[in-house]
Amino acid sequence: MRERALEAVDCVVVGAGVVGLAVARALALAGREVIVLDQAEGIGTETSSRNSEVIHAGIYYPAGSLMARFCVAGRRTLYPYCAEKGVPHANCGKLIVATNADEDAKLADIQRRATANGAEGMRILSRAEAVTMEPNLYCTSALLSPSTGIIDSHAFMLALQGDAENAGAVMVFYSPVTSARAVTGGLEIQVGGADPMALRCNLLINSCGLHAPGFARTITGMPAERIPSAYYAKGNYFTLAGKSPFTHLIYPVPVPGGLGVHLTIDLGGQARFGPDVEWIDTIDYRVDPSRADSFYVAVRTYWPDLKDGALQPGYSGIRPKTVPKGAPGQDFVVQGPQTHGMPGLINLFGIESPGLTASFAIADHVRDVAATG
Ligand SMILES: Cc1cc2nc3c(=O)[nH]c(=O)nc-3n(C[C@H](O)[C@H](O)[C@H](O)COP(=O)(O)OP(=O)(O)OC[C@H]3O[C@@H](n4cnc5c(N)ncnc54)[C@H](O)[C@@H]3O)c2cc1C
Repeated sequence: MRERALEAVDCVVVGAGVVGLAVARALALAGREVIVLDQAEGIGTETSSRNSEVIHAGIYYPAGSLMARFCVAGRRTLYPYCAEKGVPHANCGKLIVATNADEDAKLADIQRRATANGAEGMRILSRAEAVTMEPNLYCTSALLSPSTGIIDSHAFMLALQGDAENAGAVMVFYSPVTSARAVTGGLEIQVGGADPMALRCNLLINSCGLHAPGFARTITGMPAERIPSAYYAKGNYFTLAGKSPFTHLIYPVPVPGGLGVHLTIDLGGQARFGPDVEWIDTIDYRVDPSRADSFYVAVRTYWPDLKDGALQPGYSGIRPKTVPKGAPGQDFVVQGPQTHGMPGLINLFGIESPGLTASFAIADHVRDVAATG
């Protein structure tokens, strides 16, 4: 294969998911020269197209965590941005529903944490109030999150791409970045694909999602002890034929280790249930139809009218975990030179939910880390 001469660019973002695109946009708007490289044929082919498309309020995350801070800041930027750019979205709100006295008691704790995180307008509803809002719902009480919404994630990514390109960024697809190494004043990366090349940059952003730890391991000089292991927690969805029985997103009270099987709605008014949690060793997006059994049981706690046979296997997404099953929850990891010691390199690890909602805030943070070294 032919190898081209070494070219140089200020910033390389590896990964054109929603986070890589938001980072590219922020860097380009800050006046930096940016190339985005992705191994796929276009933007957002992995986790950014395999999620619930929920604009999260910032309810459950530990106070002060990056997830809590970036979710709330990202959401506050996201709604006005969608309105300005015509990105389809709806501020439909969400109900967290209790179905017994134990769960009733837990709603107040959830409300306190959410309010402390900056989720606005959280309000506990009586059974009667909740059922007036959602006549098909069974509950004993509910917690309303008015700032939760839904978004067309692909339209959002297209808008980010457009902004980045208008500010001078260049997107290059079919371009797997296979390795990198430190050189004076920056990094040199190797790009594979049909037309392999080496590229020198001052700033390299590893925004490879599920593959971020694997890519970090190809970077000569990156301390191995700073690279988390990659664990995969798949989330399966089942769809419901016909129109959604609810107009708000409906979530059960969370159980240890997960948010429970919840209902989200897409912008076409179609309901889907999930994601559940299935720990896997290799990336495999197939949905096992037999998992529907546990969905029927879970969903009927708050929607007893769910008919047998109504659920169809939908799609799945895989959470990029940095901790194994059973370990305490993880936070986003934004790792700059001060942590790993390699000038010009920023790694993004564990960018699971609420990464879509938080993307603007993650991007601002990356831009600031890059500016301060
Ligand atoms: C089941 C599920 C539900 C979710 N629901 C929500 C939700 O409702 N709301 C919310 O806010 N968040 C949600 N999230 C989280 C959100 O989807 C992610 O945080 C976000 O999409 C991550 O984007 P990313 O750009 O980091 O990764 P990705 O979208 O995975 O992008 C990574 C990109 O890197 C590219 N790449 C990888 N390696 C290389 C390489 N070596 N060279 C070149 N390119 C490479 C890939 O091709 C890919 O395009 C959910 C996540 C999951 C799994």
